[in-house]
Amino acid sequence: MSTTPSADETVSDDDLDSALITARRQLERAATHVDVDPGVVERLKHPTRVQQVSVPLEREDGNVEVFTGYRAQHDDVRGPYKGGLRYHPEVSAEECTGLSMWMTWKCAVMDLPFGGGKGGIAVDPKSLTDDETERLTRRFAEELRDAVGPTKDVPAPDMGTDAQTMAWFMDAYSMQQGETIPGVVTGKPPVIGGSYGREEAPGRSTAIAAREAIQYYDREISDTTVAVQGFGSVGANAARLLEDWGATVVAVSDVNGAIYDPEGIDVDAIPSHDEEPEAVTSFAKELDDGDSVRRLSNAELLELDVDVLIPAAVGNVITADNADAISADIVVEGANGPTTFAADTILEERDVPVIPDILANAGGVTVSYFEWLQDINRRQWTLERVNEELEEHMLDAWDDVRAEVDAEGLTWRDAAYVVALSRIAEAKETRGLWP
Ligand code: NAD
Repeated sequence: MSTTPSADETVSDDDLDSALITARRQLERAATHVDVDPGVVERLKHPTRVQQVSVPLEREDGNVEVFTGYRAQHDDVRGPYKGGLRYHPEVSAEECTGLSMWMTWKCAVMDLPFGGGKGGIAVDPKSLTDDETERLTRRFAEELRDAVGPTKDVPAPDMGTDAQTMAWFMDAYSMQQGETIPGVVTGKPPVIGGSYGREEAPGRSTAIAAREAIQYYDREISDTTVAVQGFGSVGANAARLLEDWGATVVAVSDVNGAIYDPEGIDVDAIPSHDEEPEAVTSFAKELDDGDSVRRLSNAELLELDVDVLIPAAVGNVITADNADAISADIVVEGANGPTTFAADTILEERDVPVIPDILANAGGVTVSYFEWLQDINRRQWTLERVNEELEEHMLDAWDDVRAEVDAEGLTWRDAAYVVALSRIAEAKETRGLWP
């Protein structure tokens, strides 16, 4: 088999959107549709603060290395800052600022009482031992101690961090504060105040958004074909739920490539990225010539003629280079920022609806909100209750965005930003500008 290209090969350099550029552009676009005080828009272009900290770490060989950590806090007019902490070599102040703005819009479109934050450490997590990751996380928690807290700023896992990272962060913060404070972070293991259903939530909300879109465009889910790029937490959970609800998942992929079967793939038979990384590739290797399953590249998966395409792997995969070749009738963004601005314009001209990330994958932050409520009340919810409340929140947000689509003829993305900006602007105007 020849080397399978990754989705990154579909990206041309001049078409890549940084999170900050995208966030500012969306704010400006939304402002043209909302009757909002220009002073409010001006304030929202700037983060409240971006903290930079040095995080010294004693490595296993006794040497000391100093890493740089960040926490960007964009806006808290509707409640504490909320957003992930990522460990990745390319974490920067600018990236955190842009992503914190995205979180402001995401929390507002879901009507959660949070603002937007994002942070992380510029480090390759794969270069650290578990003990080093624990020490780095504990020291980072201490450096950010004054900035975070259940009523100030509530981090969560993101790229390169997980439930265990949040457990160490919560423990370090609690030890220094002198009391157990589970609500300082979300995405923790359930045994220390995490919520059931948090891990599956972004995939579940992506599936709900796809299901609602299928219904909105007058299709039967049982007649719907779906292609999902990325078989991780978001992609695998979305694919499995849509299959349970009657859709036919015809293609899935991991970083090495995709598999395609027009008859439908048994997605339950493939472990997700968390369960077994690159399981789609292993599944493909076991196929013999008589199988109806074909191997495709990630780029080819994106161009399949399916009813619903769910990019759920990485950002910037639908670009000006391939937007004309997208043959799906509906795109539902499971990943953050999979469609570049240029591609979005092309898809709009071609009348291909794109259900935006800030709505579709917002199940993660929504269940984080449930976790925060459970921590404050010291009362754990059942998985059934989490899923029921998530369904309810998603349908409410869907209806709010759909109302803007229907009334104003906006794209789904513009409508979502209009809903978010209207809520934030109203809160700002009502609270006023101090002093
Ligand atoms: P994950 O690490 O669990 O899985 C990622 C999957 O994508 C894997 O199957 C991997 O093999 C594949 N992949 C990686 N690089 C690829 C590439 N270049 N081309 C094609 N496939 C590739 O990740 P996840 O948690 O499912 O997150 C996926 C996306 O969803 C990211 O954009 C993330 O920011 C976004 N997201 C995640 C959450 C969450 O809580 N997990 C919430 C909201 C948004």
